[in-house]
Amino acid sequence: MMRTAIPEVDSEKCTGCGSCVERCPTKAVEVVNGKAVIVRPDDCTYCTDCEAYCPAEAIRCPYEIVILPAETGKRTQLKGARGKRADGTQTRTKASRK
Ligand code: SF4
Ligand code: SF4
Repeated sequence: MMRTAIPEVDSEKCTGCGSCVERCPTKAVEVVNGKAVIVRPDDCTYCTDCEAYCPAEAIRCPYEIVILPAETGKRTQLKGARGKRADGTQTRTKASRK
């Protein structure tokens, strides 16, 4: 499957704290020269954890992920909604069917 969406980093806001690096489950992001960089975009699952844990709101996942079942034509839309992680914090992903 081709993936085109990766998080966007605002280098003006990024403090290089490394929180996104610690939280990223696939090690897709690293701090390079003091700023977050998606160094392995193919490994990014667009889970939005980096966005959720960034204290500076410097890394964002602004795209919706839309899944289109070929046989029904109905679509399942994953967009900035709410879920809960094991530690009680909120995630941004929730499915809604149109
Ligand atoms: S968590 Fe935010 S401020 Fe910290 S390194 Fe990542 S993008 Fe930069
Ligand atoms: S969206 Fe998830 S997988 Fe992608 S860089 Fe952020 S934390 Fe890592």
